[in-house]
Amino acid sequence: MKNSRIYLSPPHMTGNEQMYINEAFESNWIAPLGKNVDMFEKEIAEYVGAKGAVAVSSGTAAIHLALSLLDVKRGDHVFCSTFTFVASANPILYKGAEPIFIDSEPETWNMSPQALERALYDAYKERKLPKAVIMANIYGQSGKMKELMALCDHYQVPIIEDAAESLGSTYHEKHSGTFGEFGVYSFNGNKIITTSGGGMLVSNDLKKLEKARFLATQARDPAVYYQHHEVGYNYRMSNILAGVGRAQLKVIEDRVTAKREVFERYNYLLSDVAGIDFMAELPQTRSNRWLTVFTMNPLEIATEPIEVLKAMAEQNIEARPVWKPLHMQPLYLNTPYYSHLENEDVSKQLFETGICLPSGSNLLEIEQVRVVNCLKESVKGAKRKEGIF
Ligand SMILES: *Cc1c(COP(=O)(O)O)cnc(C)c1O
Repeated sequence: MKNSRIYLSPPHMTGNEQMYINEAFESNWIAPLGKNVDMFEKEIAEYVGAKGAVAVSSGTAAIHLALSLLDVKRGDHVFCSTFTFVASANPILYKGAEPIFIDSEPETWNMSPQALERALYDAYKERKLPKAVIMANIYGQSGKMKELMALCDHYQVPIIEDAAESLGSTYHEKHSGTFGEFGVYSFNGNKIITTSGGGMLVSNDLKKLEKARFLATQARDPAVYYQHHEVGYNYRMSNILAGVGRAQLKVIEDRVTAKREVFERYNYLLSDVAGIDFMAELPQTRSNRWLTVFTMNPLEIATEPIEVLKAMAEQNIEARPVWKPLHMQPLYLNTPYYSHLENEDVSKQLFETGICLPSGSNLLEIEQVRVVNCLKESVKGAKRKEGIF
C-alpha cells in the first residue's frame, strides 16, 4: 500500500469560506471589488496594526505596486535580500531597474545588517543610493529590523518588507510587515492563510495606498470617458477570493499556534540527532514557523541534503531544499552582490545544507512521525566525511 502524500504546506480551509462567498453571490457582487474586498482590507490592517491595506491579485503584484509608489524607474538601483523566493526581486526587473543582492546573516537567515551597511556605504560614495530596499522575512522569521532600519534611516532609503511568509509573526511585539514604508503579504495556496491566490499591500501612508488602488485598476483618470495619463495594472483582488481571505483571517492565530506546534514536535522528536540545527527564534521575536527548516552540519552528518530529499520523495513526502539564493540564479547572474562578511557567504551555506520539512497547520501527528522516521533513517549510519575541513 502506498503511503498517502504529505504536502509541504497545503491549504487549510475553515469551512466558513463558503459563507462569505455565498454572501457575494446573493448580492451579485461577484466583481468588481465589493464588500468582501473592503472588509478584508480593513480586517488585515486592523490585525497587523497598519493604517491601511490594499487587496491585490498576488504578493508579487503588491511588491510591483510598492516599487511604483516609490517611483522606481529604469536605471534605478534597488537592494533586495538574496535568500528569498524569486518573486521578491522580479518586480525590480519589471520596472527596468537594477537589483543589488544582499546576503543573510546566520541568526535569522534574513538580511545581514553588515552586508547592507557595506552596500549602502558604497552606494553613497558612488552617489547612487538605491530607491528602495526589499527585505524578505523568510520562513516566518522577522529580520533584524532594528539594525536594518537604523541603516536605512541613516541613508533615508525606504524599506519594502516582503512579509509574504511572515503574516502573524511579530518582532518586539509589532507585526512583521509593518516596519517599512510598505509591507507585503501573500495569500498564495501554500502560505499560512490563503485566498487561493492573492496579496496585500499595507502602509501607514493612506495617500500612497489610494494611489496604489488607482494604479491597480488601470490608472483611470476621474473623467467621464476612459482617460489615462500613466501606466496602470489590473491587480485588484476579486470579491469572491477576498471572502475566502476573511474566513481564513479569523483563524490566523490558530494557524500560527498549529505551525508552532509542528515545529516544537519536530524539535523534540529530532533532539537526539546530532548535526540538525533548526532556524533559531531570536528573543523578542515570535515566528509563525510557516515552514520548519533546518541545516545539516556536514561535520556530524555525512548524508547530503539531496539524499534526504530523495528518501522523502520515495516515501511520498514533500520536503524541499531551502531557497536557492537569487545571486546564484541563472536569471540574475552577474548581478552585484554583497556577502555577509567579505569572505563569508551565508545564504550559499544555507542553500547547501538546508531543508524544509512538511509544516502544514493541518499536518497530523502520525504524519509527522512518518517524516521524522524517514529523516532519521536517511541520516543513520552515514559516515562522517574525512578531511573536509
Ligand atoms: C510567496 C512569496 C512571494 C510571492 O507571493 P505571490 O502571492 O505568490 O505572488 C513573494 N515573496 C516571498 C518571500 C514569498 O514566499
